[in-house]
Amino acid sequence: MLPYKCISEKIQKIKSGEISLNENVISFFNKIDEHKDLNAYNFLFKEDALKQAVLVQNKIKQGTAGKLAGMVIAVKDVLSMKDKPLTCSSNILRDFTSVYTATTVQKLIDEDAVIIGKTNCDEFAMGSSNENSAFGNVLNPYDKTRVPGGSSGGSAAAVSARLCDVALGTDTGGSIRQPASFCGIYGVKPTYGRVSRYGLTAFASSFDSIGCFANSVEDMAAVMEVMSGRDELDTTSSPNDVPPYTAELNNADKKFTIGIAEDYFGDGLSPEIKKAIDKLLKHLKVNGYETAAVTLPYSKYTIAAYYILTTAEASSNLARYDGAHYGFRSNESSALIDMYRNSRTEGFGTEVKRRIMLGTYVLSAGYYDAYYRKAQKVRRLIKTDFDNAFQKVDMILTPTTPTTAFKIGENISDPLQMYLNDIYTTSANLAGIPGINVPVGKDSKGLPIGAQLLAGQFNESKLFQIAKFIESTF
Ligand code: GLN
Repeated sequence: MLPYKCISEKIQKIKSGEISLNENVISFFNKIDEHKDLNAYNFLFKEDALKQAVLVQNKIKQGTAGKLAGMVIAVKDVLSMKDKPLTCSSNILRDFTSVYTATTVQKLIDEDAVIIGKTNCDEFAMGSSNENSAFGNVLNPYDKTRVPGGSSGGSAAAVSARLCDVALGTDTGGSIRQPASFCGIYGVKPTYGRVSRYGLTAFASSFDSIGCFANSVEDMAAVMEVMSGRDELDTTSSPNDVPPYTAELNNADKKFTIGIAEDYFGDGLSPEIKKAIDKLLKHLKVNGYETAAVTLPYSKYTIAAYYILTTAEASSNLARYDGAHYGFRSNESSALIDMYRNSRTEGFGTEVKRRIMLGTYVLSAGYYDAYYRKAQKVRRLIKTDFDNAFQKVDMILTPTTPTTAFKIGENISDPLQMYLNDIYTTSANLAGIPGINVPVGKDSKGLPIGAQLLAGQFNESKLFQIAKFIESTF
């Protein structure tokens, strides 16, 4: 256990001399060492982190420190940090070093956070179990025979096992919310465009969003308040003002109307998860929250639409890894075309190749109309479903995942089964809306259960407020 619950308490204790930031950072490194078997980190930045700790500790004492002073943060290894490795857990980028820093990471540094290292993930963020990493599996801290979820599995495991205060993740179809649920922690995927993607390695550009994992709602809100906002370096970032998420947490007794969509409680949902969500709903009702039924009839097409559109975008985005521009180059080739082919064949893992092939197929002449164009239309309909629902309710409560954490190897030979894991999370990315995972209990095996709350675009604050209410009363 850490000697503080959230960042404000930590800063207080550093100020009063009860905690030394230097010792705190060292204790994280020791703990990471003790939990090496979890394989949560690809790289550690010990020297930099300790140097930063001394600087920030002084700033805190002098009263000149930033909003995230002393918060120890891990960064998913798909985000750039100048002069640091950026691998996306892929052999094709095994020896690549970033030449600039992602806006999100820079904003954390500017507010005096301490960056401790880069976390393991599925290769190019494609996966739901962290089994597609060139750096090996990450283990679930609750049960080491099980997956931590994916693709941000290292970030989730690191926060859950207290190997950092907060970790950044990315969510293209659930890669923050699903591992947060499997590891029993908070995780938020913001509105598309709320956070700059500059410096994020693209998987599916119209879906990718950067968010974070935390053990407390306050930490999550504090980090999102810093990371959000317009960035001239990302034209898809929104100019909308960023609300003071942390200050608004004090409105946590504000009662929202909660939508329940039957479409999210159908076949395949574990009865134990359903029971936990029902219990939460009852608790909210007893405490004065209104509920209303909503329908999201196009939900049944989310997995199909998601895997058509994201593979299409991935096939285009990943064309840049050709052995000439970035990273790994095969030595086995005599002609240029062979060099491209061999570099990609040797550099990419199986799942990434599967997605490039699927994406190339759905974009090819003759199939474009049948798959890609149709999926775009379905995407619009899914968005309309949500627009209609949010006319009636403030937010929608669903399970985050159909099951709790599964065994390592259990789904690896059946990609479709693996993709079905994303059944409740992909819709938020198709619609561009924010979503959050809130831990709500354990199943009979002691594995964490998560509830998902979805809100309309730019309504992150409502999600933080209800999460805070659940955190302190449930
Ligand atoms: N599991 C989903 C996929 O494999 C989501 C990935 C993500 O959100 N990065 O595509």
